[in-house]
Amino acid sequence: MEGYVVGVDLGGTKILTALANLEGRILAKSRQLTKAKEGPEAIINQIVASIEEVTGKANIDNSKIRAVGVGCPGPLNVEKGIIYNTPNLNLKNVNIKEALEAKLTAPVFIENDANAAALGEKWFGAGQERDNLIYITISTGIGGGIIINRRLYHGANDSAGEIGHIVIDPTLDVECGCGDQGCWEAIASGTAIGRLGREAIKQGKQSKMTDLVSEIEEIDGATVTKAAANADKVALGIIERVTNYLGIGVANLVNILNPEMVIIGGGVTKAGKMILEPIREIVAERALDAPAGVVEIVSAELGDDVGVIGAIAKALVEIGVLL
Ligand SMILES: [Zn+2]
Repeated sequence: MEGYVVGVDLGGTKILTALANLEGRILAKSRQLTKAKEGPEAIINQIVASIEEVTGKANIDNSKIRAVGVGCPGPLNVEKGIIYNTPNLNLKNVNIKEALEAKLTAPVFIENDANAAALGEKWFGAGQERDNLIYITISTGIGGGIIINRRLYHGANDSAGEIGHIVIDPTLDVECGCGDQGCWEAIASGTAIGRLGREAIKQGKQSKMTDLVSEIEEIDGATVTKAAANADKVALGIIERVTNYLGIGVANLVNILNPEMVIIGGGVTKAGKMILEPIREIVAERALDAPAGVVEIVSAELGDDVGVIGAIAKALVEIGVLL
């Protein structure tokens, strides 16, 4: 088979587009700020322009593009190509597949961004050679993608993998964006780490965190992580508390799905060993022996390009290049 594919990482702040060959090697890239305020039409036109930009840069005729993969925030209807509602992008019930296919010659396939990232790590990152894995991204929220027998698991209506909303501790008085109490992402995301940092200072605890910012409200997940890396006791206590929640969540997922690998990505993993090692220990302690005995818990490998590489993987899966 000859030709090329395009991957589009459609986010609330930026659109990353890349042209790749059928081995998934990136030949040209484009990066634009998303014109989210200008509505669906403007975003569709931006994506089309970004595809023209990458084919132009690589000097490749548009007719040689076999498929376009688009990773975007959910909820979605993957088969029909509908984005139901994404406040960040100002899109509501938009059939992005049809809108793009009307302007392009190649078929368009959409995927939830965390699911696309899971595909990227499975085919081009840490999960190569693995058939069953869970990808977890921990940043402002917690998202994930579940791969079973080499394929993404979508569930009954494309909402599988919303692991950020498994409830870890409902007795904690922490409300999640979804309206529930004690969801994983409400208590263990980068946002939660920042909130715990601010609360500690407001309670009068002495910490190096205050030296890193000009006012308390500026304390975020990165501030706490930085202070913890400098052996600050209060920050270390917060990281310990959060990694405990992270470990509990991963242990639950490991018990349910018995994956060969759990790949952890997202901004919070910049804290590295401080996060990963305790998660491994907690999983070894809490998960059942059989699944805990086989699972490898590793860092993601693709970094900030995971979204666009995942969109490329989506396109390659859909045209049968990746099986
Ligand atoms: Zn929730």
